[in-house]
Amino acid sequence: MNATTAAASLSPTPGPSPARTPKTPRPTPTAPPAGSSATSGATTVAFVDVGQGDATVIKSGSWAGLIDGGPAGSEPAVEAALAKLGVRRLNAVVVSHMHADHTGGLTRIVSEWRPRTAYVAGTPTSALAGALRGAGTTVVQVRRGATVRFGAAQAKVLSPAGLSGDPNSDSVVLRLDASGKSFLFTGDCTGPNEAVVGSICARGPPIFVLKVAHHGSRYSTTSSFLAHTRPRVAVISVGPNSYGHPRPATVGRLLAGGSRVYTTWRNGGITFRVSAGGAMSVSFSRSSVPVKKATAAGVR
Ligand SMILES: [Zn+2]
Repeated sequence: MNATTAAASLSPTPGPSPARTPKTPRPTPTAPPAGSSATSGATTVAFVDVGQGDATVIKSGSWAGLIDGGPAGSEPAVEAALAKLGVRRLNAVVVSHMHADHTGGLTRIVSEWRPRTAYVAGTPTSALAGALRGAGTTVVQVRRGATVRFGAAQAKVLSPAGLSGDPNSDSVVLRLDASGKSFLFTGDCTGPNEAVVGSICARGPPIFVLKVAHHGSRYSTTSSFLAHTRPRVAVISVGPNSYGHPRPATVGRLLAGGSRVYTTWRNGGITFRVSAGGAMSVSFSRSSVPVKKATAAGVR
């Protein structure tokens, strides 16, 4: 990531966990940095540029959480994003599914940051399970219908309802509602579970920011899913890879549906801020220019 920061404004459009005592005392929270407020109700969602993988920091007042930790080697980028947002304590991690491009960087983050709670669907890898045990983190299995509090904001678990055994399909899918703006975090969800998520979203307001499933794989983000979710902005977390992600056909579907498309490959780290009143802004660590062409060169 380079040091330049670009910004753009986006005008608005129409589970409880059992208590568990940690083995070591947690750091005492200190005063938030200037300009932030524990009670403001503002929410920040930062998609970290971790190359081919996912890592998303969510901050709501003094609450902070992380969805996935990128591939191994992502730790410096994730910790830089946490530092930039003034995060001193990680309240929770969500592990969308147990693939290395989502969990590789998480083991060390969990060991060092000792989150209170980890939300998962399925069995953590042995390395991650060991780190969670060592950190005294409570592991909570979540399924469709569960509600997870993210500070002042609230997230609904839309998938999975049960486990099929296919980690991508069984990805934890969350809809986060922050001051009237919806974010949809899809992990690498695909197939029937993605279709169900779409039909649930069809009954609600459009999604403001869609974290595109599976790095823009052609097997996710169907036209029908897009017709149901109606995302205004789409973020593809992706970097150099041998899978052909993101697929031009998938990017084409997003553009055809009217979404503004950004990728971490092209735009770098992408940070959305929703004020308590629902005003949305976005900034980028690299370029603010969205994807205009559904070609391999157009997304990087
Ligand atoms: Zn993935």
